[in-house]
Amino acid sequence: MDDAKIYNTKDNHFNIEDIYKRSRVGAPEDELETLEMQALALDIFKTGVSPCHRLSPTGWLPQGEHKTKIQVLSQLVDFAFANVPMYSEIYRSVGYELGSIRSEADFKSLPVLTRSILNRWNDDDRLSLGRKAIDTYFVGTSGSSGKSLKVFYDQNAAIVETLESFKQYASYINESLSADRWIYNIHMSRGWLSSLLGAYRTFTLNEVPPLDALIEHFAKIRPVFLCALPSHLWELSPIGDLSRFGIRAISTNSEQSSRVERSKLSEIFGVPVLDEYSSVELGVIAYECSAGHYHVNEEGLHIELLDVDDSGFGKVVATDFRSWVMPLIRYDQGDLASWDKSVGVCSCTKAGNRFSEIRGRADDYFLREDGSKVSSATLLNIVDTLFTGPASTLKEFRLVQEAPREIRFEFVVVSGEELAASSKSQLVESLLINIEPTIKVEFIQRTKLSETPSYKRKKVIRAFA
Ligand SMILES: [Zn+2]
Repeated sequence: MDDAKIYNTKDNHFNIEDIYKRSRVGAPEDELETLEMQALALDIFKTGVSPCHRLSPTGWLPQGEHKTKIQVLSQLVDFAFANVPMYSEIYRSVGYELGSIRSEADFKSLPVLTRSILNRWNDDDRLSLGRKAIDTYFVGTSGSSGKSLKVFYDQNAAIVETLESFKQYASYINESLSADRWIYNIHMSRGWLSSLLGAYRTFTLNEVPPLDALIEHFAKIRPVFLCALPSHLWELSPIGDLSRFGIRAISTNSEQSSRVERSKLSEIFGVPVLDEYSSVELGVIAYECSAGHYHVNEEGLHIELLDVDDSGFGKVVATDFRSWVMPLIRYDQGDLASWDKSVGVCSCTKAGNRFSEIRGRADDYFLREDGSKVSSATLLNIVDTLFTGPASTLKEFRLVQEAPREIRFEFVVVSGEELAASSKSQLVESLLINIEPTIKVEFIQRTKLSETPSYKRKKVIRAFA
């Protein structure tokens, strides 16, 4: 087939100059997408088969769709052991033999791998079936917590992720996606496929355009769904109610935001603002529902929480069902989360495992002197409760725990404004109550916050181990 015939979503700018300009910038995904991929994705989406079963290489999953979790895990481990040099060596060193995973306990006896362990191996040795890194697509993780890791994948894995995202969006609006409605994406990257042969289209802008242009475009294109970073959403807040354009929900990702912040945004826009927990290595791990819980993407991954502490938080360790190019089995993501233990299905009616809270990267929490942790979610909630909202003079902030008893609140205010003294003293009071009564809190006003290594705004940082 001829790639020139790919439906061009960028053509739908309705001659609005500012939209035209900002939609031109290519997304990294433009390089990958083909007409064949779109056709295959559409076919799988229509027939409703499990994308992983349809698209994974022979031997990766057991035959037939309805296998137990252990049968699936056992097969993945055997595949990696037989076809990936790194796994052959690591598993052999612990005495693994083909077919030896018969129970959850067997699976849990396999070594846990981290980014730094994976990085000790050559790229080629992490790949399955003799693939060579030089011929394989990859994305790199940010280097913010250690060395960057190249994550390799193929077109089929990209299709699986696209179809997973459609399922996620459908769950946000509580009905199946309709083929002619747009997904509107304000982000530097987009989903792997810009459309499925002109259906299920995504319109992407790499940054927020002037709002009058955006309002005009929303009115014309009438998206059902908006994906944007939390920081972008504050820029959009003057637009107000988005339901008048047909938008039914907003998805945020990539940046830290608190439930308090998302509730405030949701009030402004008149639609739910729901967070996604994802990473470069593992794609979408979980996503938030209307009840505020993060449901695990169980079609895509198997999640364990390890070394769970007294407060219920453990390390997020994942086995990725779509990672057949570079298998990730018992991979420690470097994040902490806690299970929602309430019995039965969630009040949103969706079944399956769910997190009650995600703490993000291990350096995202503050430490008390007795070694106990204060989660970034708690810290963000404290600041957001005091400062977030259209009337707030606070533009940006970052909380840094410099030393066990030293907290720094770096902030940027709206030009010509100040931070209310009463809010400042309330913030100090809350931090003393939540961390230690003996801490010192320093306020530092800046004109701009320094950049973090990726585009993520990192709002909570602990500067010591
Ligand atoms: Zn739920």
